[in-house]
Order: sequence, then structure tokens, then C-alpha cells
Amino acid sequence: MSAVSTQTSGQPNATAATTTANGNGTAQTIKSHAPATGELVGEAPVMSKEQVAQVVARARKAQRAWGVLPIEERCDRLLRFRDAIVDRAEEIVQLLSKETGKPRHEALLHEVLPIADTLTYYCKNAPRILADRELELHLFKHKKSYLHYAPRGVIGVISPWNFPFTIPMGDVAAALVTGSAVVVKPSEVTPLIMLKAKEIFDATGLPEDLLGVVTGYGPTGQALIESGIQKVVFTGGVETGRRVAAACGAALIPCVMELGGKAPLIACADCDLEHTARSIVLGGFANSGQVCVSVERVYAHESVYEPLVRRVKQLLGELKQGDPAKSFVDIGAIIFPKQMEVAEKHIEDAVSKGAELVCGGKRVTGPGDFFEPTLLANCNHDMTVMREEIFGPVVGVQKVASEEEAIRLANDSHLGLNAYVFTKDRAKGKRMAEQIEAGSVVVNDVLINHTITEAPFGGIKQSGFGRVHGEDALREMAEVRHINYDRFALPPGNPVGFPYTEKSYGLMMKGLRALFSGRGIVQRIGELF
Ligand code: NDP
Repeated sequence: MSAVSTQTSGQPNATAATTTANGNGTAQTIKSHAPATGELVGEAPVMSKEQVAQVVARARKAQRAWGVLPIEERCDRLLRFRDAIVDRAEEIVQLLSKETGKPRHEALLHEVLPIADTLTYYCKNAPRILADRELELHLFKHKKSYLHYAPRGVIGVISPWNFPFTIPMGDVAAALVTGSAVVVKPSEVTPLIMLKAKEIFDATGLPEDLLGVVTGYGPTGQALIESGIQKVVFTGGVETGRRVAAACGAALIPCVMELGGKAPLIACADCDLEHTARSIVLGGFANSGQVCVSVERVYAHESVYEPLVRRVKQLLGELKQGDPAKSFVDIGAIIFPKQMEVAEKHIEDAVSKGAELVCGGKRVTGPGDFFEPTLLANCNHDMTVMREEIFGPVVGVQKVASEEEAIRLANDSHLGLNAYVFTKDRAKGKRMAEQIEAGSVVVNDVLINHTITEAPFGGIKQSGFGRVHGEDALREMAEVRHINYDRFALPPGNPVGFPYTEKSYGLMMKGLRALFSGRGIVQRIGELF
């Protein structure tokens, strides 16, 4: 795998990544362009099925030595990788910001910092989380059972372009801690940053082939799924998710599906208006709205609707937008230019059905791919802006008459990744949160839950299944083995085994009644222990 090749020739109106023939016209490369300027940032190869198979084979070989190391040693060595990421944070931030067009603050705060934290959390806690767990047996008191967490082998990670460092690297950390090797297929739109991560990984003295990166398009991801790996962690859109889940089903390997979101924000009558307005602006427009947990739709109680819309408009007017390499801007570029067409389609639909375009609504003219932060008021559920994922800097606001109506509308969605409730009454906020159909619900804050490493993250409904982060997800990353053994030496043979006779059948029937009818022995034994 070659390291990132960085070039500087300008390319106006470039898409984030284009493909060209390389050398003799057979091998293809992806050319990655800076969305803020169109400048060529670097290239990555489009890898064939055979090349993917080679990377996976090398990862499997490296895993054999890695997986048998004591977990404490694996964690010590991974902490060195964490240190290298921190040491080289500026370099990572610069490349991230260039390849995605996101502000440097966001590259640091949303991408680099969470990975330093995730690696620290896993390395400190994995020996406890992955320690053998004894099971308390309620019936088989003469036996003992425990769960043992073994490495799976090679984990495949397929990741999107909106957070091209933090999303795959969180899965990389979990896989490596559990003793597996990992191969990442980054999005074709942002292939360079994972190659940088690999360069840093290799420089820390960790076994080179333990972390593989395979670059290319969908077929490269498909080849990874079909390469004999043991598990897939996929993050991406719902439609691609269906194809990936089907391919995992055909290969009979488990998968985690982290798919799209359409996060609602409920502004209750008793919300803190200023805090709610600022949270809508941050939650809806950070990373130019290209966040799976972005605030995409607001249900505002009629008593706060007007002032809330007014204040959000004012705050949006204060944001600075532009090339993050030139100055400290608040809003960067659109990473994947097609998203601008998606935004335009939803805005047009909403306005044609009576929505008020409060601000924004169009592309910014000039070099680079920028879209104005857009606020639509007077929205309703006939409009696609309130129902389909936009994944861009567009927020729709709908007036509601009650909190019950807001909850009903929040749940009127095929997606269920994240949701937000704003109220000064914390107990009410928690009650409402429990009624919203989403994998995570945050009261009085936005976006934060993805970075709470202890908490499971993932969706319900068509937002996917399985979880990343937290103790259970780390155990899921490993292969659980149930080990059972005798507590003490038993006489040979099995009292309920062969031969099956009338007498033994009668004894078993008596046993069933003694054990389970009324306050049977099992219940009484349970009370004793
Ligand atoms: P896509 O679904 O288009 O792509 C995701 C990844 O899958 C890319 O690496 C893509 O490669 C790859 N891929 C495409 N086709 C196949 C295939 N047939 N087999 C295997 N891999 C394939 O998503 P985007 O990159 O456009 O990301 C945006 C989506 O991601 C949004 O819907 C967003 O909500 C979701 N997302 C979800 C998150 C979550 O945690 N739930 C977090 C962040 C984003 P290539 O790019 O080369 O086509």
C-alpha cells in the first residue's frame, strides 16, 4: 500500500473524487480533490478483488501472532498508536480538513479527539470487559460455565465520507483490542485519510499487516465482504446497507449496520429558547449538516415557534462560511457534491408545498462546493424535508400544538438513529425521551452521544442494527465461547442418557414435577443461592 501522494495542481469544479486510468491505462486510481477549492489532494489505487484478497490474507497471518498476545500487552501497544495520533494531530487535522472541506475545529473535535479517547477507554477497560465471565447456573449446580471472548480473525470495516477518520478508526480500535486484525474500505470520496492513519500505524512499530486499507469503489467493498473475513461493520446509506447486509447474509457472516438518520428535535413550551436555538444551529449545521445524527427536523411548540425561528435565523446569519484552510470558518464545504442536488430537491419540494424559506436555499457561487445554511419554516409531513434524510445544511421546522403531537411526528419515520428533546423539566425530558423511537435520545444537547464511548451507538428501524461503542459492542466484536465443566469428579456415565427405559422415563417425569410445579425445587434452590 502506497502512502498518500499529495499534489497541488488546481482543478476547478472538481468533484470530491474522480477516477482516472493510471500509467498504462489499465490500473485505475481515485483522484481526491479538496471540495473547498477543487485542488487535487492526492490519489489512491482502485483495488481489485485479487488485491483485496492479498491484503486480507496478510492481515490474517499477522492476526495469528497478535491474537495470542495477552490483552494487556495489546492495549499497551495500541496506546503507543494513540500517542502517535496525538503527536501528529496537526498533520491529521490538515489533511482531514483539506480532503473533506470541514473546519479545522471540527476535524480536531469530531474526529481526532474522539479516537484518542476511544483508544484510551478501550485500552484501559478492555481487560475487564473482555475478561472471562462466570455464569450463575440455576439448575445445573454440579456444573460451571463461563464465557470466553476470543478474537474473531479479520474484521472488515466499510465506512462513509462524512467522518472518514473517526468512524472507521473507532471500529479499528475495537477490532484490534479484541485481538482481531482489521481491513478498512474507506469511501471513494475520501480515501486519503485512512491511508494516513495506516502510515502512522505502521510507523509506531505495530505489525504492519494488522491494519489493512483497501481503496476503491463499491466493488472493492463487495470484494472485502466476500474475502473470507469474520465480521463486517458497515456505516453508510440505507440502500447500500441493504446490499451489504445481503452480501453478508450470503457469506453467513455477522454484520453491524450503521445507516442513515433523520434526527428530530422537540422544542417544548418550557425550553430555554436561547440554548435551543443555538443547539439547532450547531446540531443542524456542524459539518455542513453531513452528520448521521444531525438535527434535520424541528418540532417546536406553538408558544416558542415564532421566537425560535427568528433566533435561529439570526444565529445562522452570524456564521462564517468558506475555505477552512484560509481562516477559521464555522461552516465548510459540501464533501460530496451530489448532496447539493439532494438539498435542492428537498427545498424545492418544501417550498412548492407551502414552506417558508427563512434563509439560505442555494449553492454559494465561486470556487469550491458550498451550500448556504438553509432554514425552512411552516413545514409539515407532506414535505420530503421532514421525512427523508437530507445529509446537508438544511433544517425544517414544524409548529406543533402539544408535546404528544411532537412525539407522534418524531416517531413518524422509517429511520430511528438519534433524537433530541429540549425542556427545562429534566424529568419530563427523560419521560419523553423514552417514548421516542431512536437508538439514542439526548435531552438538552446535540451530537454528543456518538462521542460517549461508554454508551452503545446505533439505530433502530431502517437506521440499522447492531451497536458500536460501549461494553456490549466490544464483546460483540469478539467471538463469545461458552465453556462448561464439572465442579467435581462425577461417576462415569450420564444418569439421563442411554439406555432409555420405562423406569428412567418415569423418574424424569417425577423430576419435572418436583422441579417445576408450584414452588418447585428450582425456585427453592434459587432462593437458597
Ligand atoms: P454509502 O452507503 O454510499 O457508502 C458507504 C460505504 O459503502 C462506502 O465506502 C462505499 O464505497 C461502500 N459501498 C458502496 N457500495 C458497496 C457495496 N455494494 N458493497 C460494499 N461496500 C459498498 O454512504 P455514504 O458514503 O454516502 O455516506 C452517507 C450515509 O452514511 C448517510 O446515509 C449517513 O446517514 C450514513 N451514516 C451513518 C452513520 C451511522 O453511524 N449510523 C454515520 C455516518 C454516516 P464508495 O464510497 O466507494 O461507493
